[in-house]
Amino acid sequence: MARDFLKGARDFYDVIVIGSGLAGLTSANILARQGYSVLLLEHHYQLGGMATWFKRSRGHIFDISLHGFPYGMIKSCRKYWSQDIADSIVQLKGIRFENPQFSIRTTFNREDFTRLLIERFGILPETVQQFFDTARGMNFYDEQSRTTRQLFEQFFPGRDDVVRMLMEPITYANGSTLEDPAITYGIVFSNFMQKGVYTFQGGTDSLVTRMRDELLKNGVDLRVRCLVERIEVSPDRRVQAVQVNGRRIGCRAVVSNASIRSTILELAGEQHFDRQFVDSARAVRLNNSSCQVYMALRRGEGFDPGCGDLLFHSEHRGFDINAMLSRDVSSRTFSFYYPETRPGSDRWLIVSSTNARYEDWACLSEEEYEQAKRDLIETTLDCLQQYVPNVRQVLDHVEAATPLTFQRYTRHPAGASFGTKFEGLQVSRDLPQQVHGLYHAGSVGIIMSGWLGAVNYGVIVSNDVDKLLGGPQQATVSG
Ligand SMILES: Cc1cc2nc3c(=O)[nH]c(=O)nc-3n(C[C@H](O)[C@H](O)[C@H](O)COP(=O)(O)OP(=O)(O)OC[C@H]3O[C@@H](n4cnc5c(N)ncnc54)[C@H](O)[C@@H]3O)c2cc1C
Repeated sequence: MARDFLKGARDFYDVIVIGSGLAGLTSANILARQGYSVLLLEHHYQLGGMATWFKRSRGHIFDISLHGFPYGMIKSCRKYWSQDIADSIVQLKGIRFENPQFSIRTTFNREDFTRLLIERFGILPETVQQFFDTARGMNFYDEQSRTTRQLFEQFFPGRDDVVRMLMEPITYANGSTLEDPAITYGIVFSNFMQKGVYTFQGGTDSLVTRMRDELLKNGVDLRVRCLVERIEVSPDRRVQAVQVNGRRIGCRAVVSNASIRSTILELAGEQHFDRQFVDSARAVRLNNSSCQVYMALRRGEGFDPGCGDLLFHSEHRGFDINAMLSRDVSSRTFSFYYPETRPGSDRWLIVSSTNARYEDWACLSEEEYEQAKRDLIETTLDCLQQYVPNVRQVLDHVEAATPLTFQRYTRHPAGASFGTKFEGLQVSRDLPQQVHGLYHAGSVGIIMSGWLGAVNYGVIVSNDVDKLLGGPQQATVSG
């Protein structure tokens, strides 16, 4: 008989969270801490969404999205998770750029970027300061018609080398382009520039295990392998229940961590929303997807620490989003994982990431797809040889992931790695005005994406839910 992954689950909860990405986990944790009864439903067998990892034989553990996040993650984890989690966040100091225009090493913070812009690129100190101050001063309520391209043209006209240094890492971090609103760039870039790039020491598995422990301690009912098929909405537009693994479970509120488009158009169903709202949801553009190549070295082998931690490699001149997305890869970010990533481990791993278009991979036959993955692996190894010359000889394991892989594991339409373009945020924020008790928390709008964006959005949405439900003292109803 099939295993019942909902065995022992109640028939009613204050809040049901659909999906265990960082936003879903954070909302669930905060609401449970406040005393609400919370059921968290995840379709995958593992929690974490894209904050995930996988294990391979001979003890290799690969991280998928642990490449770097801003310093703000320490504060968010301390406040909304635990001191212990916050204490494991450490800085990555070896950030490198290697491309036909420049070869640079940086700690990726304002001080060092200021030095580079002045000394290396010959930009006037007052221009650099004005640029940083302008970027730092941007916020969600600013006018949104100015694009990132216009921002760069204002400060660094004709300088595609400067644009590349300022833009390339952010595109890797959240898929944004020069045509996106400048505020999305300003907010994310300034977050990084505050103090540099950070990582979680211990690996994603350790982070998510600690988060799971915290959720259980706070009383969240955690269920994996539970696919939510439908969000039930009453004719007067109030959330009532979800259908999951063939069972109906009632609730006062739903926080969906699934894609904003799937939440509205598939899980709830467009009949429950105003026509205009459905049109805006349909118009939300998804962000791009990714390809990755995971490489583990044989036990006892390593690479030169001079490789750095994060290396933005490109063979292309200037910042070119089409080249970055092309299946004919010319730009890659290499993440070098030293044994200290997981203290006590003796493993050296490298993950190569590239932005990618879902359509380029989804249209292939099975044979072409397998061949394209093999090509991706081979061209990645060819490229990596310039930094790790003997990589082919010391390699113990290699495999690749494509937009189809990300789609399969996270159920994101088109395998979108970083949620949606900017307009997705407004649709996500307006959702509860359409259906009472229905919320969305997850990567949207560029600024609410990435590890920090997702955690912080989970916080914002849990506050909204708390306001609606009226506080924990009234929130113990079940039945
Ligand atoms: C290759 C790659 C590299 C990245 N690198 C970085 C990085 O270095 N730094 C950084 O900050 N960010 C990075 N990101 C982005 C970051 O990982 C994500 O923005 C963030 O983890 C997303 O969190 P989320 O809360 O939006 O949910 P997601 O991680 O998207 O999770 C959503 C969850 O909902 C579940 N779900 C969906 N539908 C259902 C359903 N119907 N029923 C049950 N469960 C459902 C999914 O299975 C999934 O677990 C990277 C992403 C990718 C793909």
